[in-house]
Amino acid sequence: MLKDLFTKNNTKKRKYATIPTETIKSDVPEGIMTKCPSCKKIMYTKELNKNLKVCIHCGHHFQMNSRERLESFLDEGSFEEINENMISKNPLNFPDYLEKLEKDREKSKLNEAVVTGIGTVNGHKIVVAIMDATFRMGSMGSVVGEKITLAIEKADELSVPFIIFTASGGARMQEGALSLMQMAKTSVALKRFSDNGGLIISMMTHPTTGGVSASFASLGDYNFAEPEALIGFAGRRVIEQSIREELPEDFQTAEFLLKHGQLDAIISRLDLVNQITNILEIHQPGGELEW
Ligand SMILES: [Zn+2]
Repeated sequence: MLKDLFTKNNTKKRKYATIPTETIKSDVPEGIMTKCPSCKKIMYTKELNKNLKVCIHCGHHFQMNSRERLESFLDEGSFEEINENMISKNPLNFPDYLEKLEKDREKSKLNEAVVTGIGTVNGHKIVVAIMDATFRMGSMGSVVGEKITLAIEKADELSVPFIIFTASGGARMQEGALSLMQMAKTSVALKRFSDNGGLIISMMTHPTTGGVSASFASLGDYNFAEPEALIGFAGRRVIEQSIREELPEDFQTAEFLLKHGQLDAIISRLDLVNQITNILEIHQPGGELEW
């Protein structure tokens, strides 16, 4: 049964034609300029991208896909992807699931909602897993869980830190209980890695919700988040209806969670490489620190 959960994608990567976006109506010229959803100011997209997709006026963090994240975080040319060809099957025969996966593969140019591999940050070797919200909203099915587990085991094998960037709508409903199982599986893998002395850093990005927030995203030795990231288990309305109380305005934001002790720090993307490098240096076996 377990072997039926996923398979390898043996089809060659195809190239897709781009469709002109003339039909999109916007008050901002498409592509050249970007409007910040937070401060409403307009800036050159090029300038925004150069600033790691952080608004140059107000510091708002735009969402990044896994490729952009890799480029901004790892040393150039250091990334070596692992298990990239693993793709989901349809173990519960959920209607239209395979078609939806195929569409997301075309759109995102990814095989699944997480990219895993080995790379370096300022010369420090790490294993990294980066979730991508452009694929099925970053939801966690059996392949996402398996790839993350294999990445943790790879970090254990190499005795290097494991860093995960989360962005997820939670467990993937099309795989039902098999998706929920991934919470336990990834948590056990992290516990084993931790018992062997492994360092785990979780970086929660917008949005990190559902079963992902309730498992590996919150199990780091360090639990960090990007500014204003939405982090939570159930949605605001569901909670308000069940406890019959109005929730605070900033509920389920990174800032709220930091105030209440669920996060260790909020780190701006512009400062991330420096901060993570410091932590990697502190935890380097036999490393020397100058005070
Ligand atoms: Zn802004």
